Amino acid sequence: MFNSTTVQLHSNNHPLKIHLVSTGAVAVKTRFRENMHSGIIALADFILDKKFTEWLPIYIMIIEHAEGVFIIDAGDIADVNNKDYFKSSGFIANWFDKSQFKFSVKREDEINKQLERLNINKENIKAIVLTHLHFDHTDGIKHFPDTRILVNKAEWEKPFGDLPKLYPPRFKPELIELNESFDVFAKAYYLTQSKDIILVETPGHTYHHCSVIIKADGYCIFFAADICYSQQQLLENKFTGNNTDNKIAQSTYNKVKVFAKNHPVIFIPSHDADALKRLKNSETLFSF
Ligand SMILES: [Zn+2]
Repeated sequence: MFNSTTVQLHSNNHPLKIHLVSTGAVAVKTRFRENMHSGIIALADFILDKKFTEWLPIYIMIIEHAEGVFIIDAGDIADVNNKDYFKSSGFIANWFDKSQFKFSVKREDEINKQLERLNINKENIKAIVLTHLHFDHTDGIKHFPDTRILVNKAEWEKPFGDLPKLYPPRFKPELIELNESFDVFAKAYYLTQSKDIILVETPGHTYHHCSVIIKADGYCIFFAADICYSQQQLLENKFTGNNTDNKIAQSTYNKVKVFAKNHPVIFIPSHDADALKRLKNSETLFSF
């Protein structure tokens, strides 16, 4: 349903290959995608909403870097289509996730199949980094029992809307502390020795949600995960219906915009179908 794209770049004189691939598609209530409220009012509003959005991608990013392969998020799996998939998470989660979302994920959309298609060997994966713990970003980890999986320690300790019953058995990610800063982002962690792939905390969607910034020659790629569901929302200061707090989300929007005004940035939210075109055509958030 959604295409994938590969761009060949350079960073610090090393080649850098970036693949943006969708692990299937999801549709949400229109007022889940966008709502003026957060919390219980937004919840009631989108539950009563009868209209679903068009199909949206579930993007993950695969980065072939001189120091190894880094993968941002693991995406969803075909099991999510099964009617009993959420049953283990209890009555409310089961009702909520089945009634508020629609999924279309095929086996060939799953992350392991995408890696096979790209001829990327699991052994070459340096780390899979999870931006946050929502199942459409974590389900694919079941394919990687022996791979290093990194999660922001603060996100792990105070998750928001995660379904731990869906984690693979004995799931034990490496918890990292974002003790450094990067540009406008007060909490950061350098994923590479060359300091060109950076995990930054961008809260709002969850309390300690993260994004990944890749510094390539010419521009930065900003994998925004669920900061917002489209670049348009960021530009118009509109919010999704499931934020922890829109004030926190606004503060993150402001930081992203300051960063993007100072550096050319290609902005890639996980569920923004237009992100692929922007990456392909090197379309930055603001003009330079
Ligand atoms: Zn999410």
